[in-house]
Amino acid sequence: MHIHRNEPLALFNTLRLNAKAAAFTAITSAQQLQAAWRWSQEQALPILPLGEGSNIVLAGDVEALMLKMELQGVHLLKSNDHQVELRVQAGENWHAFVDWSLQQGYCGLENLALIPGTVGAAPVQNIGAYGVEIAEYLRRVHVLELHSGVARTLQAHECAFGYRDSIFKAELRDRVVITAIDLVLNRHACPRVEYPALVEYFAGQEAGRIRARDVFDAVVRIRQSKLPDPAVTPNAGSFFKNPVVSPSAADALQQQHPALPVYAQPDGSCKLSAAWMIEFCGWKGRQTDGVAVHKDHALVLVNAGSDSGKALLDLAQAIAADVASQFDIALQIEPRVYGAR
Ligand code: FAD
Ligand code: NAP
Repeated sequence: MHIHRNEPLALFNTLRLNAKAAAFTAITSAQQLQAAWRWSQEQALPILPLGEGSNIVLAGDVEALMLKMELQGVHLLKSNDHQVELRVQAGENWHAFVDWSLQQGYCGLENLALIPGTVGAAPVQNIGAYGVEIAEYLRRVHVLELHSGVARTLQAHECAFGYRDSIFKAELRDRVVITAIDLVLNRHACPRVEYPALVEYFAGQEAGRIRARDVFDAVVRIRQSKLPDPAVTPNAGSFFKNPVVSPSAADALQQQHPALPVYAQPDGSCKLSAAWMIEFCGWKGRQTDGVAVHKDHALVLVNAGSDSGKALLDLAQAIAADVASQFDIALQIEPRVYGAR
């Protein structure tokens, strides 16, 4: 295991922000993870797991041992006529794994195609898109506990999964490294195409004839047509979560703004469109200090030539202040911010 000191991180985050990690190493085996953990104990440096850096904002240097999670492998744990259970190592690329699962005839994850990042980061914010969340297919999450150095397994029901949320953003934040996840996938496709963009894409097609691979292809095409590719335009996806409010609060807002999109949630609460509110406040497409709100997607903030996470956070703060004053809604930043003073 080679530990790099003062490692520049610009190539390790999709916003291409400049910052340094006090220490940095890649993890490709369980033994390396143990050795890195012991080293961090000796040096009294906290551990910070990193996947592909697609959901982080580096606002300054990071005083930690950053572990670039590169554990690889997929193993079949169980199989019957209807389902398979798979163990997937944390460093696998999420989209490549989804593609592979469909090639094997295992269905369920097709709506989550093209989400950047690693398998190990997926439970952290319970990745979701086009009406599906990973939590629906997760059985277990395997972790290394950072206070003890001991491996532990959490059952899915212990992970407190919610809308872009989990125990890994709350009680277990900074306390574990996810090493692998167990998923249950279906052998028989039952495509989920009720999300508006998919309804539109498949308009006129007989639902029974739509295959899981068709949904995967549709999601890839829709995403490529709407979202900026981080390799070309540095970004971290949606910068703000959609606010979830009570039905009465949503009603009151819709009285004032009848066009505001409101989505009823299964638990009775209401999700509001953050993108709509940001666009209403006039931020879509605006650029300042080398950072910008994407011209086609108001939720996506892009690095347009700045290398400073501070400029990005200042922009986010100005947007949130406008939304708060216009709608009395506190927008929450979705990516994890590091190095902010
Ligand atoms: P990183 O950014 O490296 O890390 C994110 C957080 O997870 C950090 O706090 C990190 O410490 C922690 N972490 C990472 N790996 C581990 C581990 N092994 N153990 C413990 N903690 C860990 N998200 C969605 O939910 N839906 C979308 O549709 C979506 N679309 C996106 C589109 C674009 C263009 C971009 C840039 C991002 C999008 N995202 C989306 C956000 C992002 O892809 C996901 O959050 C993804 O899971 C992050 O993976 P990562 O490996 O890059 O994590
Ligand atoms: P979209 O389809 O234009 O929809 C805009 C927003 O409205 C989304 O945030 C979505 O919430 C919500 N929405 C639309 N129809 C809905 C419905 N029937 N029920 C509940 N909510 C509905 O969104 P988009 O920006 O192009 O993204 C498409 C999908 O990819 C979304 O699921 C989005 O979450 C996901 N995505 C996520 C990120 C990220 O970084 N987190 C980045 C890009 C795309 P939801 O977000 O809850 O779906």
